[in-house]
Amino acid sequence: MEVRNQSEIKTKVTQVSFIDLKRQYRQHREEILGLIDNILSSGTYILGDVVENFEKNAAKYLGCKYVLSVANGTDALILIFKSLNIGPGDEVILPTNSFVATAGAVAAVGATPILCDISNDLNLDVAQLQALITKKTKAIIPVHLTGRPAEMDKINEIAKQYSLFVVEDAAQSIGARYKNAMTGTLSDAGCFSLHPLKNLHVYGDGGLISTNNDKLYADIKLLRNHGLVNRDTCMRWGLNSRLDTLQAGIANFSLSYIEKWNNQRRHMAAIYRDTLKNVIETPSDKSHEHSVYHNFVAFAEKRDELMKFLLSKGIETKIHYPIQIHLQPAAASLGYKLGDFPTAENIAERMISLPIYSELLADEQEYVIETILRFYRG
Ligand SMILES: *Cc1c(COP(=O)(O)O)cnc(C)c1O
Repeated sequence: MEVRNQSEIKTKVTQVSFIDLKRQYRQHREEILGLIDNILSSGTYILGDVVENFEKNAAKYLGCKYVLSVANGTDALILIFKSLNIGPGDEVILPTNSFVATAGAVAAVGATPILCDISNDLNLDVAQLQALITKKTKAIIPVHLTGRPAEMDKINEIAKQYSLFVVEDAAQSIGARYKNAMTGTLSDAGCFSLHPLKNLHVYGDGGLISTNNDKLYADIKLLRNHGLVNRDTCMRWGLNSRLDTLQAGIANFSLSYIEKWNNQRRHMAAIYRDTLKNVIETPSDKSHEHSVYHNFVAFAEKRDELMKFLLSKGIETKIHYPIQIHLQPAAASLGYKLGDFPTAENIAERMISLPIYSELLADEQEYVIETILRFYRG
């Protein structure tokens, strides 16, 4: 009987999850358990050298003066708004197609989210920004959705003209570049999320704030730690919003891999683009962009049927986002209705997020591609 080497038997892929977080842990298990043991043995579980070291490394990576770690990406936005004195009576402009937290953070400080339509790149439609600015407008929040940079030059130019703050929601875009500068460093401050689903993540919640502004840095350093200047003196009512020391250690480890992981995503995006461009509309970078494909969002005809077909073949896909912010029940008091944001609503009917993550195997991606081609070519 012929005995074949185990590695020669190629198992046929029949199932592809949208994401599998266990794989990255399995690949780096020894290293991660080692650093967890070091931190647990050190006796410092909140703040300390590990946190400071991570923040320094993150600032160096992003090319900005300061990084502060916080409890999550939503708190990052809230803390930035607080330090900019954005609150009741103020308006903040943001895209309607984002994760709900962008609007939730504005509402959390008592300000009013003002929604804006998007362009085909899924980011703020800058042509519509100016019409939304009123005497109450305090800030614009571009979201670099899917890891693709928003049009920062135009946004900053408009903000300057009206003396508005710009706060980047870079929760999905760590490592993405706009004209060679990192997203999150192109405005007054940037927010990042370290949620397990994000490109740079920890094993729980986490967030970062990037800024070049000395005052903002000093403010938020106090605010994230109860407003305490030292153990006993509270200068200003603050929050408890720190990144656990343990998670900072993990984040620091992950930071050394982020370029590699992002490049793997970019490579997979290029393969999707090359193989699928004749059947679905795929995203591609403009010459001044370097996207990190937190999600690979394509536009597809017969999208719902496609998703159903893929699922029947074991392939999970998603929609980012099926209910846009203006149509969320929580947004009812803002007074928006269906039809208010035609581009976003049109895109919502066609968009599909395909599996993309650094541990996705070539065979698995091939299976996704073949199955999509089969759907359209019959
Ligand atoms: C994930 C995300 C957030 C919130 O980050 P958390 O860490 O989950 O609080 C905010 N904005 C966008 C665009 C996100 O994708």
